[in-house]
Amino acid sequence: MDLLIKGGTIVTAEKSTGMDIRIEGDKITELGCNLPVKGEKVIDATGKLIFPGFIDTHTHFDLDAGDFFTADDFESGTKAALVGGTTMVLDFATQNRGETLKEALLNWHKKAEGNSSCHYGFHMSISDWNEITKRELKEMTAAGVTSYKLYMAYDNLKVHAGIMYEILKAVKEEGGIIGVHCENGDLVNTLIREQKALGHLSPKWHPISRPAEVEAEAVNQLLTVAKLAEAPVNIVHLSTKKGYQVVEAARATGQQVFVETCPQYLLMEDSRYELDGFESAKYVLSPPLRKKEDIECLWKAWKDDKIDTIGTDHCSFHYKGQKDRGIHDFSKIPNGIPGVEHRPALLYTYGVTEQKITAEQFCAALSTNPAKLFGMYPQKGAIEVGSDADLVIWDPEYRGIITAGEQLQKADYTPYEGFAVTGRADKVLLQGKVAADQGKVTIEKAGRYVHRGPCQKTGLKVE
Ligand SMILES: [Zn+2]
Repeated sequence: MDLLIKGGTIVTAEKSTGMDIRIEGDKITELGCNLPVKGEKVIDATGKLIFPGFIDTHTHFDLDAGDFFTADDFESGTKAALVGGTTMVLDFATQNRGETLKEALLNWHKKAEGNSSCHYGFHMSISDWNEITKRELKEMTAAGVTSYKLYMAYDNLKVHAGIMYEILKAVKEEGGIIGVHCENGDLVNTLIREQKALGHLSPKWHPISRPAEVEAEAVNQLLTVAKLAEAPVNIVHLSTKKGYQVVEAARATGQQVFVETCPQYLLMEDSRYELDGFESAKYVLSPPLRKKEDIECLWKAWKDDKIDTIGTDHCSFHYKGQKDRGIHDFSKIPNGIPGVEHRPALLYTYGVTEQKITAEQFCAALSTNPAKLFGMYPQKGAIEVGSDADLVIWDPEYRGIITAGEQLQKADYTPYEGFAVTGRADKVLLQGKVAADQGKVTIEKAGRYVHRGPCQKTGLKVE
């Protein structure tokens, strides 16, 4: 069934224009003013904004956390994403030590295939670097995986500087990009032990064990290594002003550094850790929530076009039955919060309507930059003739309140409980069909794997 979207305002990363959109099959085939109706179905988008489908650059669905899995798997997580306007997620396939990358990729395909209501791709987390892994990079490229993740924290995943150097060089040859979790894990382990020895066991000590310096030091180490390797790098979930200042200093020397931050680091302060009893466990994630000056720094950076992407780091755990694993020891609380459903509405409300950023900058960070950085532009991230018809028809007048009772995410709470929102995804088109309508999924499990090419932001030529 072909579609004509009439009367809306198309918003891209560059500009906003009143234009109609013709869709045939799963592609955009014509853009223009007052396009004639040729017997296809017409959607009246008067008063609405139309964005290219949003891409969440950072989710963890169906992740094994030891005693249990995350609250959301691909089935619930991608439905929640879709109703919020996110038409694609990039989830992290994780290589456990002893596994090949191929095994890790297969594991994640099994989790996602047939269960996903929005499109999906995978970043590959490397934890075991050896000759086999190195040879597998070519196979990953051939399989459409062109982005990787390295951890500087967590003992089971962490890689050291010399290994990071080798991986950065090898991935650069493939034209790929590496995202890095920047926290000095050795320091974190020591600071956790120190707090526990003092009898500090409640969640309020979590941020004390992961101060801003731990992030800034790791960013500095990473950028030093990346400079030596002459490789571009992406810093995921940057949370602090101190960390950002290190990025700015490196960029000033000409180094290519991309930055992702998350809604939680733009919208919530570390005062949440002062909540009574165990309540603050709802905000235990890493890096932790930060201070007002950090929040202000990140908004300013976004306004100045210095933030490239905004992902959620959606890694959801139930408050009852999962987070409470750490009721007597904050270091045992599983780290992470839900967010995939609410990212667009939150950032539109607190960014665009409060005029911290423009609608075009919102589009850039949530859709266009992710598509370019992760090698799928203009198939995704654009409203152009030939682009995939993954679109969000956005109602800027909608007003609502976020509450866990109404969410499709499976976690039994949301850290954004009670947040007022202005604007929401009215209709979400996935490959040319209305797959979500006013908060309800209308087509389930139609998401496809997106085979990606090399990074389109680094300007590197790949042989
Ligand atoms: Zn993450």
